[in-house]
Amino acid sequence: MNTDTTIASISTPPGVGAIAMLRLSGKDAINICEQVFTPTKQDKILSKQPPYTIHHGSIVDGNKIIDQVLVSIFRAPQSYTGEDMIEISCHGSTLIQQQILEVLIRSGATPAQAGEFTLRAFLNGKMDLSQAEGVADLIASSSEVARKVAMNQVRGGFSGKLAELREKLLHFISLIELELDFSEEDVEFADRKQLLAVVDSIAEQTNQLLDSFKLGNVIKTGIPVTIAGKPNVGKSTLLNKILNEEKAIVSDIAGTTRDAIEDTISIKGIAFRFIDTAGLRHTTDSVEIIGIERAYTKISQALVILMLIDARETAENCTSEITSVSERLNNDQRLIIIVNKADMVSFEELETLTTSLKNTFTNNTIITMSAKRGDNIDLLTNELVTDYLKSTSSDDGVIITNARHYESLHKAMENLERAKEGINNQIPTDLLALDIRQVLHYIGLITGNISTEEILGSIFSKFCIGK
Ligand code: GDP
Repeated sequence: MNTDTTIASISTPPGVGAIAMLRLSGKDAINICEQVFTPTKQDKILSKQPPYTIHHGSIVDGNKIIDQVLVSIFRAPQSYTGEDMIEISCHGSTLIQQQILEVLIRSGATPAQAGEFTLRAFLNGKMDLSQAEGVADLIASSSEVARKVAMNQVRGGFSGKLAELREKLLHFISLIELELDFSEEDVEFADRKQLLAVVDSIAEQTNQLLDSFKLGNVIKTGIPVTIAGKPNVGKSTLLNKILNEEKAIVSDIAGTTRDAIEDTISIKGIAFRFIDTAGLRHTTDSVEIIGIERAYTKISQALVILMLIDARETAENCTSEITSVSERLNNDQRLIIIVNKADMVSFEELETLTTSLKNTFTNNTIITMSAKRGDNIDLLTNELVTDYLKSTSSDDGVIITNARHYESLHKAMENLERAKEGINNQIPTDLLALDIRQVLHYIGLITGNISTEEILGSIFSKFCIGK
């Protein structure tokens, strides 16, 4: 990692747009730009201009004018990377972008590696590692909630929580350090009860963060949903209605493509991934043959299962059908029962059926609807989002979305448990200190207080070039 160089790259996405942007960062950023920039106002000297100003002019390659541009100047340390920076806004042709990049490189800039701007921001203390990772998530976010969670991380919500934990851990260490200093005299300064209370409160906070990962993990990629039920019960009708109503198919979420068999829809800002439904959506004829095993595979991949039954069926048939699915579910999976084709039975018949189902499936939400007419679709979409909106609505509610963070917190938790056990078993103070230092180590890995080139390389290589 050579941060002595001045890096350059195109920061806007490949392709043609009205405007594109190139960036330079490093100690020579302003000088390099000055060599290839002819200001419109002739007596202007770029390097003498105050920071945070914008200048009109041309980028030239010898006698050739490549483009008319705007150049913005940032000075260290008040810039994204913490170094001197230049942003060049040019016209959006790919040829122009390439030619400007080439002339910058010929004038002394080095092409930036993926994520190198953000890596420099991290190395210069502009953000910690978890914030830097939040930047990558922010760029990739394609639903409102994913954006919000990433934004919170970038703004330091998670870092703040970790700093709190760190402070408590340091407090703990300071309590036992005194004892270590006087170890030969075999004194016990720290009250064991007090130590246990500190460790307990750290463990509780750590556990909350670990728990949030379940939600955080699906926020990024979409909450997996599947629609189950017999052929002809109205599965494709329901899906079409949801798709039309929400009018927002998010197709560019990582891992989903148009020809994949998934529809990712943003409902009230939360991405839901409808598993294996593309085939369903195009089904116009009423008979759809899905092998039982394939249907169960879909169900096993989902967090939410929309179980459709026909309002004309007997309560007995419905009950056995729902039971055959519900008994295969684990605790994390949620089954919503939808009594469809409510328009085809009388009010009394519907009441009898739903009352019977409510008595049997006391823990499940039951919604009666007519997918064909669109009745009660909004009840369903509300039901889908309510839990998730509740968990993500508070601005300070920190949610972990990153597997690397989860793993480190998990390791921290193991050591906390060991420390707890140690206190209870009255282990020597130096061993206790060892466990707590380990916890600090794993938290340091998340924030980047402790990092290796290998860790940084694997994190920043996933960024796009130019960020
Ligand atoms: P799938 O096989 O489960 O995907 O079922 P479809 O969505 O293809 O629906 C089968 C048939 O039931 C179609 O003719 C639909 O128009 C009809 N259908 C679906 N939902 C309703 C409903 O709520 N009421 C009525 N009357 N017909 C429905």
